[in-house]
Amino acid sequence: MTMKGIPIRLRLARHGARIGPLAAIAAAAVLAAIAVSAPLPAASATAQPVPPGLGGQNWTAIPTNANVVALAFDAGANADGVQPILGTLARYHARATFFLTGNFVRDYPAPSKAIAVAGQRIGDHSVSHPYFTKLTDAQIRDQVLSAESQITSVAGADPSPWFRFPYGDYNQHAISVVNSTGFVPVGWTALPLTVRVVVMMTVTPEAVVV
Ligand SMILES: [Zn+2]
Repeated sequence: MTMKGIPIRLRLARHGARIGPLAAIAAAAVLAAIAVSAPLPAASATAQPVPPGLGGQNWTAIPTNANVVALAFDAGANADGVQPILGTLARYHARATFFLTGNFVRDYPAPSKAIAVAGQRIGDHSVSHPYFTKLTDAQIRDQVLSAESQITSVAGADPSPWFRFPYGDYNQHAISVVNSTGFVPVGWTALPLTVRVVVMMTVTPEAVVV
């Protein structure tokens, strides 16, 4: 299978469920099949509200010319899966993005730090995992920015600019408010149980796979 020039986004593990050995095994299988992986592309560290060209959308594939696979995990319910996943990623020299909530880093500071220490990227997944379409603008900004502050303080890594809507619940207005905080929402297009299909789907350009 050739992956040349095909940007792929891959998401594993569903939020709210345990990120358990199955997810790690699935990740290993996918990584073994693909053998190319990378985190979401690094954003510029400038003070731009949103990295140029990334506003106005909940991205399911970040535009890039790089030949990469981005693995993203949502962590929220517990931290049991963190170490197995970190171990699997290390084994395959892979990098991923972990979307953490403020409540997660508050409750699980050591695993949160371990993610950053392992060199994995951390994204912002709100403080308390609410439905964003039900929040006021002020509440949205507070969820994003307070989580950023908690994550930076506890894990020692700034999640900016990557953000993931809890439950994938968003609308255009929520995107614009999140953008006003400087964050870029990143979504997905497939569900965790389709992981086996992912390997097949890697030939599909711009696929965001779970
Ligand atoms: Zn979630």
